[in-house]
Amino acid sequence: SIVTRFAPSPTGFLHIGGARTALFNWLFARHHGGKFLLRIEDTDRARSTEPAIAAILDGMRWLGLDWDGEEVYQFARADRHAEVAHAMLESGHAYRCWMSQEEIAAQREAAQAAKQPYRIRSPWRDRSDGPLDQPHVVRIRAEREGATTIRDLVQGEVTVQNAELDDMVLLRSDGTPTYMLAVVVDDHDMGVTHVIRGDDHLNNAFRQLTILRAMGWPEPTYAHIPLIHGADGAKLSKRHGALGVDSYRDELGVLPEALFNHLLRLGWGHGDAEIIDRAQAIEWFTLDGVGKSPSRFDLKKLDSLNGHYIRAADDARLAELAAKSLPFEPSAEQRDLLQRSMHALKPRAASLIEIANGAAFLFAMRPLRIDADAAPLLEGPARNLISQLHSALDAVADWNTEALETAVREVAESAGVKLGAVAQPLRAALTGKRTSPGIFDVLVLLGRDESLGRIADQMT
Ligand code: GLU
Repeated sequence: SIVTRFAPSPTGFLHIGGARTALFNWLFARHHGGKFLLRIEDTDRARSTEPAIAAILDGMRWLGLDWDGEEVYQFARADRHAEVAHAMLESGHAYRCWMSQEEIAAQREAAQAAKQPYRIRSPWRDRSDGPLDQPHVVRIRAEREGATTIRDLVQGEVTVQNAELDDMVLLRSDGTPTYMLAVVVDDHDMGVTHVIRGDDHLNNAFRQLTILRAMGWPEPTYAHIPLIHGADGAKLSKRHGALGVDSYRDELGVLPEALFNHLLRLGWGHGDAEIIDRAQAIEWFTLDGVGKSPSRFDLKKLDSLNGHYIRAADDARLAELAAKSLPFEPSAEQRDLLQRSMHALKPRAASLIEIANGAAFLFAMRPLRIDADAAPLLEGPARNLISQLHSALDAVADWNTEALETAVREVAESAGVKLGAVAQPLRAALTGKRTSPGIFDVLVLLGRDESLGRIADQMT
């Protein structure tokens, strides 16, 4: 049965590229009823941090990418990695090397001078008389003849001449394992059948295979997915609005299902379907759908997906999420008002932040601060209309949408103007803004006293 894994290095937050890799591994496993494992590659002790680990786990939970079993911490497995290097020494697939930095540098310079690609050539490959009590590394004895071919599920067949691979280090002189060794041992021990990751790791796959073959271990199937580019075609960076997953949630007010859908569409497609929810994604996801060229990250698409999922979301949930983006801690009553307003706020919002901003008028104190661009709506002929609206609305017995609409329309008719000419000053008086939810919704949500009070404030 199928086993995939996501293997982030916790040196920063969970970024878009990493989250997409996690998603594809998760979907592949869920589609096939297999397992999805999580391995934290924390062997770089200087750069790995606890907050980064927390951000990765948190981001994955938020996106709903649940992993099977406990996460594996790579650093804790260093003894096991060393054990494998020693087994390779025993079997002759690795050797001890006492080359100094100076000797290596001299080889490199000689290769450069001869305009040849540099591959280390250690004299210790064929010697076994080195001083064991002196510092040395353990290197793989890599095959130099022939070629290695990977049948990658995305890249197709890729072949590298073995002469191009070098005798890489497995154990450093302090006895610690290298990244290349650790990955292979962990993937093997975790029973990983499919390695799905960014195509910046394709070169590593050949080097990792040399270790696998030396150990006689089964080879996983590889799928190296093209990297993500920005809308301008350049490699994705912060400049393109690429942020940590936590920023999409906290700063941009994105719903997890919207980011999930957006990540899915980065490099994977199913016909021309754009809106694909979790269940549908699990049903449809195969690696055949992964394209060979880099995908483009487009914030506008994310906005439109987010708008879609906001309109589809439950009002109580939206209110709870949007409340976090309010500039104050709402009371129970204010939370209730926010939830009752959701049907009016969500049709026009592309994010939870927009919902919170759109809701601000509900909680504003009298007298309202009128936005500079809304103030002119309350001047000139509008002053008269405002007074007429006040009397007409004051006379409404039953404060409901229909009665309010009738009253406002009558004011427009008797003044001989269109409804909009009345609605705009009314909106400015009630919300302090040029745009808001539908004006009758606004009246109902604010209620009689608050509405009449806000209108009266504009009559002096
Ligand atoms: N830790 C590596 C990274 O974050 C991934 C290694 C792998 O997937 O094999 O890029």
